[in-house]
Amino acid sequence: MSDCLFCKIVAGEVPSTKVYEDDSVYAFLDIAPQAPEHIVIVPKNHLGSTNEIDSENSAVVGKVFEAAAKIAAERGFAEKGYRIVNNCGEDGGQTVGHLHFHLLAGRNLQWPPG
Ligand code: AMP
Ligand code: ZN
Repeated sequence: MSDCLFCKIVAGEVPSTKVYEDDSVYAFLDIAPQAPEHIVIVPKNHLGSTNEIDSENSAVVGKVFEAAAKIAAERGFAEKGYRIVNNCGEDGGQTVGHLHFHLLAGRNLQWPPG
């Protein structure tokens, strides 16, 4: 956890372009955007992945989705639409071991993903 990239971003030890912040959630622009709007939303408290969500900590997932709705409205893509993605584990394509949700918008997103 002390070596966690997203914990360092939340702490301001690694720079990021902040999009949104509240008591429990931090959101920033993805460094390698996969859509015109690509925002990463993370719980401030470290959780390694979706596998670590339980009855004690699951409320933060609701906070993440509240943040997504606010960000979508503020950035003007709420009506047009967007996608929220969580990659979990190796087969899910997770590369950073701190629970996070991708908020993607600004183009017609295809389905299914690869
Ligand atoms: P995932 O592959 O689902 O674990 O997503 C990790 C995401 O973090 C990728 O989309 C990366 O482009 C993004 N990322 C990695 N390092 C940084 C960084 N320093 N600032 C912003 N986004 C980052
Ligand atoms: Zn972390």
